[in-house]
Amino acid sequence: MNHPNQTFAELEQRWQTTHWPNLNKRQLVYADIRPVLDELAATTALAHKVIGTSYLGTPIRRFTLGQGPLVVLAWTQMHGNESTATAAVLDWLKLLSQHCPADLPDDWQDLMTLHVIPMLNPDGAAAGTRETAQGIDMNRDALAQQTPEGRLLWQQVQQLKPTVAFNLHDQNPYYAAGEGGDPATIAFLAPAYHPDKHVDGPRLRAKQLIAHMRQILSHWLPQGIGRYDDTYSQRSFGDAIAGTGASTILIESGEHRHDPNRQVARKLNVMALQAGLSALLSGVYQDYGLADYYAIPDNVSDGFVDVKMTNLTIDDGEHPSYQVDVCLNRCNASPSYVIEFVGDSRGQQGLEEIDGSGVKWQQLPQLGAVADTLLAFVRQQVTPR
Ligand SMILES: [Zn+2]
Repeated sequence: MNHPNQTFAELEQRWQTTHWPNLNKRQLVYADIRPVLDELAATTALAHKVIGTSYLGTPIRRFTLGQGPLVVLAWTQMHGNESTATAAVLDWLKLLSQHCPADLPDDWQDLMTLHVIPMLNPDGAAAGTRETAQGIDMNRDALAQQTPEGRLLWQQVQQLKPTVAFNLHDQNPYYAAGEGGDPATIAFLAPAYHPDKHVDGPRLRAKQLIAHMRQILSHWLPQGIGRYDDTYSQRSFGDAIAGTGASTILIESGEHRHDPNRQVARKLNVMALQAGLSALLSGVYQDYGLADYYAIPDNVSDGFVDVKMTNLTIDDGEHPSYQVDVCLNRCNASPSYVIEFVGDSRGQQGLEEIDGSGVKWQQLPQLGAVADTLLAFVRQQVTPR
């Protein structure tokens, strides 16, 4: 079903036909995006410049569209293994440079300047790690600034003085949008800039913009949008940048069932960013209040496990038999599953759920044990013959 808002119905269609096909990957590295950056630089009116290099010397580029007084700054992949939004911002830049979406006035580039820094941590991306080549979590380096990438981001914020800042990340697949809700495919946060979590004007605007973005996204994700915890973290960039007076918006891309490369979250990042951009210009965000922001359900950690198997019968032939549920998670990026929970798993959701009634297993399941054989056995037993 098309989006009831004609602009977003059209934008979705346009995204389907224009997004970069080679970026449909779970993990993007600099070599993946380089041809795209080159093409954007060569074929569009986007201004671009190398603003610095990573610790190991990979260039970090910034693209700019427009020259107006409202400044929007977006950056992605400060955590190397979180690349969903990198594809999204490159799609967005292509869309914006080819066509003026219907929700923007024709002269929007005179009203606003949009800066985008894709892949701030190319070294971590290459290594598949959250951290930079120095082993530092860049998002805890806002004060110490021992990473060249972190210094670069801070410099950009000082120089550009963004009105709105988009801090784009990926979250682990186990978050639920509220207790018992769907996987949180998108989560939002207007970070605090102080331990007391005051809401000043810019933070209020961030929350209103988020409420609007959520309203637009809810067509695609009626139960899959969460609100991230706003505990203040002085070392983190989002919180530090919120302290500069920028309306700062964190977007976390998350799991969506049967979508391992997070292409749903990729598309919805484009839609959310566009909704934020146009609302900032039109002022439509002012129709929302704090209650609309807090109506977004909590982004609940560990709301899901990878696999939940219920009602397995454990019978080792020597001791009393019993029935348990066994939950498994994938071990980081490895293909192996380990046992996360044994017992009564009511209230726990599985991204995959298997009714193991009637399945007998002869070993006592142990927490932390690799469970690939168990999972293969249960799957085989419950497969309809
Ligand atoms: Zn992150």
